Amino acid sequence: MKGEIKKYDVIIAGASFAGLAVASKIKKGNILLIDRHEIGSFQSSACGTSVKMVKDVGCEESILKTFDALTVHTKNTVTDISIPLQFCTIDYKKFCKKLAAQNNADFLKATIRGIKDSAVVTSGGDFNADIIVDCTGWDAVLAASVEKGYVDREMLSFGIETEVPYEDNKLRFFVDPDIIKNGAAWIFPCNGTARFGVGSYAGDTQILKNLEKFVSSYGLKTGELHGGFFCYCLKEPVIKSMFVVGCAAGQTLPLTGEGIRRSVYFGLRCGEIIQRVLDNKISLERGLEEYRKYALKGEKRYADLLKAQKKLPALANWELNAICKGLSIGPVAKKAWKIYEGI
Ligand SMILES: Cc1cc2nc3c(=O)[nH]c(=O)nc-3n(C[C@H](O)[C@H](O)[C@H](O)COP(=O)(O)OP(=O)(O)OC[C@H]3O[C@@H](n4cnc5c(N)ncnc54)[C@H](O)[C@@H]3O)c2cc1C
Repeated sequence: MKGEIKKYDVIIAGASFAGLAVASKIKKGNILLIDRHEIGSFQSSACGTSVKMVKDVGCEESILKTFDALTVHTKNTVTDISIPLQFCTIDYKKFCKKLAAQNNADFLKATIRGIKDSAVVTSGGDFNADIIVDCTGWDAVLAASVEKGYVDREMLSFGIETEVPYEDNKLRFFVDPDIIKNGAAWIFPCNGTARFGVGSYAGDTQILKNLEKFVSSYGLKTGELHGGFFCYCLKEPVIKSMFVVGCAAGQTLPLTGEGIRRSVYFGLRCGEIIQRVLDNKISLERGLEEYRKYALKGEKRYADLLKAQKKLPALANWELNAICKGLSIGPVAKKAWKIYEGI
């Protein structure tokens, strides 16, 4: 009927790490998953994450290379820091496709514009649902449309990357103002290629020159680019009766910019809770409350990492070297990792 708004049990806005994780846990019900890109077609990150998480969601086929240590470069020193949790680089498309195969949702390729009169408004029509989940990344399209000021542009980092042919076996971070001030650079090897990137904690988008210089210092040329903003400020994960998951809720960690693992784990938990709501085991209110508690439990850690992120640019090179040296000592690294890891 003309003008009738189609109703779903659950609408999930955004079909990347967080959205696909939420959807994978909802086995019953009528679900609509919406994204402006085809699933897995729009990589924005270096896709470095934990092997455990990738295996937990059955996406090990997407693993490109694994690492047992981080290598930190300062102006004049290179330090290997072993990490108790094995990391890997993944093929974004493969990961998303594998995770997407686990859901029963209808997929709509459309641009989401916001919420109007409780309907989700998209370029492909308007839709209603009892349960709405915003997984649209840093611009949190739905949460921001019902709560003005939800996205604080002062709390965004910006990163840009290129993947070029290059062989390496180390996951490298660079804290060196000659490469980028108030930020970091990285090289994440894949298989025969590596993702070279630079990121600005200040959200500076004019960093292409920094990337080009960084890449050319390895005798290479910048290829195709990708990247974008990410929010490093943990935010309210429940807005009205909407779940907000992943980068949309600021679940990317400050300092390292690691957000994939957390988006997936928070998404899985959110999906489990929603399934219990659909099964009438708990009310929606109780589900929202449970998710909120879970998502905010690392608040202090975010605050500590944010403090470190703010202090980092002011540290002298010798101080950076002293920190790296400390972290290269096994037991110290283990303790630091425990604080960092959390989930
Ligand atoms: C350059 C860079 C490198 C990074 N490297 C790493 C890394 O190596 N490891 C790591 O753990 N984290 C990394 N991050 C952070 C990581 O990318 C995020 O934490 C992660 O992508 C968050 O996942 P998400 O699903 O919440 O959001 P996103 O991955 O941002 O997904 C949001 C989805 O919503 C869709 N969407 C957004 N707006 C709309 C709209 N209006 N209509 C329809 N669809 C919409 C998008 O198309 C997208 O598919 C990096 C970030 C950047 C910018």
